[in-house]
Order: sequence, then structure tokens, then C-alpha cells
Amino acid sequence: MKCHECGGTYIEKAGDLEIDDKYVGPLTIGAVDYLRCNRCREYLFSLKAATQIEEARERALDQMMQSKPISAFISAAAAADLLGMSRQALHKHRRIRRGFIFKTQFGDKTVYLRESVLLFKANSDGRFPLWKPVESTKYTKQVQYTRERETVLDAMPQFSGESFPELRSGVFYIQNTRTAPLRGYSHAQ
Ligand SMILES: [Zn+2]
Repeated sequence: MKCHECGGTYIEKAGDLEIDDKYVGPLTIGAVDYLRCNRCREYLFSLKAATQIEEARERALDQMMQSKPISAFISAAAAADLLGMSRQALHKHRRIRRGFIFKTQFGDKTVYLRESVLLFKANSDGRFPLWKPVESTKYTKQVQYTRERETVLDAMPQFSGESFPELRSGVFYIQNTRTAPLRGYSHAQ
């Protein structure tokens, strides 16, 4: 398959894919099938692969939440109070449902990360990086900062079958063309 961006050719790859997620940091997704342009390095993921990536990301995020002390979290009622909305509005809120406030399960209750609720109140986005890049040299720090600005996963919710006919054929673009190509590794490389 030809690349519509550069005229290169998409090569089939299989193996571990390493991405830098803006919020959870470096993430390795095992056994992913994907296509990658041999010239501009753009990725194409099937819906199945995109789902694998999203699931791995959600697992990593939840592990990070579960490793925090329970005192860092507040109840749904307290979160709703802080945001000046009813509990029902909190549960129905589209952005909150989509993960714009970090939350986790404590027993059978959903609890909200207090810091994230406050951030959401201020910016309508309570997400923030949960990882610290390795700071060995100034150079490394700068490079990693650039990498974490936008990720493949960040671009995902924008896609729909309507606007991307590739979705119907089972393959669609996940690479945000505004960003630098993401690191991707496979055994084939
Ligand atoms: Zn290309």
C-alpha cells in the first residue's frame, strides 16, 4: 500500500510497539500488527491494534492510580461538590467519562484524584503527566519534552468512521501529522 503523505510504501510489521504516552509515559504494547511507511515512518493501525494500545494505556494508568495513597482521592460526592455540579451531572459529563479526570475503583466505589479534580475545575482538563522523564543531561531532557507533547493515543478520540473511510476498511491513521513520528520498534526492524 502506498503512503498518501510521501508516496512511500507501507510495510507490514509485527511485534512489540513502544510509544511515549503523554500521561503514563513509555509504554510497550506486545504483539501488535501494524503498517509503517518506509519513508516518512507514519503508522497505520487496525482497529484491533488501536484497541490493544488503548487497553494497555488504560491498564498502565490504572496501575499508577492504584499505587497512589487512598488519601489522594475523593468521593464522587466530594468531586461533584468541588466542581459545583450534581453527582448525576458528574457521572454524565462527557469529558469526565472520557478520562479528563483521573479516577480509579476503591472497592466498589469510583474515587477521583483530588489534584486532577482541581485541575479540571481550572482548565476543563484534569490530566497531567504521571511520569518523570529520565533526566541525565540537558539534551535528553529537551528531547523527551518534545516527545511527550503529543502522542498517538492523544489523537485517537478525534477519529470516527464518518470522517475516515479507512476505518471501514479496517485500517486507519492514528499518527497525528502535526507531530514528529513516534518511536516504534519491531522485530522486523
Ligand atoms: Zn510516508
